[in-house]
Amino acid sequence: MSFPVHRPRRLRRTETIRRMVRETRLSPDQFVAPLFVCEGERVRREIGAMPGCFNMSVDVVVDECRELWTAGVPAVIFFGVPDEKDPLGAGAADPDGPVPRALAAVRSTVPGMSLWADVCLCEYTDHGHCGPLAQAPTGETIIDNDAALPRLADAALCYARAGADVVAPSDMMDGRVAAIRAALDGAGRSDVVLLSYAAKYASAFYGPFREAAGSAPSFGDRRSYQMDPGNAREALREVETDIAEGADAVMVKPALAYLDILWRVKERVHVPVAAYNVSGEYAMVKAAAARGWVDETRAMVEMLTSIRRAGADLILTYFAKEAARLLE
Ligand SMILES: [Zn+2]
Repeated sequence: MSFPVHRPRRLRRTETIRRMVRETRLSPDQFVAPLFVCEGERVRREIGAMPGCFNMSVDVVVDECRELWTAGVPAVIFFGVPDEKDPLGAGAADPDGPVPRALAAVRSTVPGMSLWADVCLCEYTDHGHCGPLAQAPTGETIIDNDAALPRLADAALCYARAGADVVAPSDMMDGRVAAIRAALDGAGRSDVVLLSYAAKYASAFYGPFREAAGSAPSFGDRRSYQMDPGNAREALREVETDIAEGADAVMVKPALAYLDILWRVKERVHVPVAAYNVSGEYAMVKAAAARGWVDETRAMVEMLTSIRRAGADLILTYFAKEAARLLE
């Protein structure tokens, strides 16, 4: 049967009908707000390419988390912006670093909030790579996978002790999920959720974040550990490996240019799937809206809806507060 009996437009006629038959809905319950924690006090430094996002000292982060919680956002993920860096990224596991201090402060002031800690070394290494450097037998400088693992495990344990209930390794080293799970369990912290950035692509859309976290590599790029944008089956392999190693949930990053990956992962696995609506995706909307080229609110909602529709159970997004307020 077809036209004229079938007229799909009938179900689009009024806002009420459209609201009732809508297949995909956004809720603040799905949002995780990324926050950049720096040293100092009363620091709230706007990030140039991310209007509305700030590097914040711990005291300001506490206020921000209260606001997010009140807006209905259930979770935040912390990234550290330390003053001191070294070749090994030792600061990642420093209990007095900005992230552990933020975790402890927010844990005591907003006790219900889910506190996530990004686990990586690149914000703490002076060369900006996600693992320590080494010399390959062939002579070139490489990122030392196996030397990174105990450091990532130490960092994850440090964040768990400070109050994180979710640790999220973002480094893309092989074997890091198993190393972190073993370290947490060995320290009696089998309660901590491990959400892995399982399929993380080497993407141009991270540009603004690197300004925010001061983590641009000082030489080379991250293509020897982050995934090639042309690969999809490899993403499934990464996801399955991480789940086998003990990941409770997995992430696809970035989101917009990888909605097909998100969909494939969602079809394949039975753990929650997160997507990272990255800084470049946020910046594109903000920049175009500032010029009057797109309607910011509509573009934001459409983008978040597409990520949800493609399969994301959870969305890490710089729009978290704005979108939550709109939806409430
Ligand atoms: Zn990293």
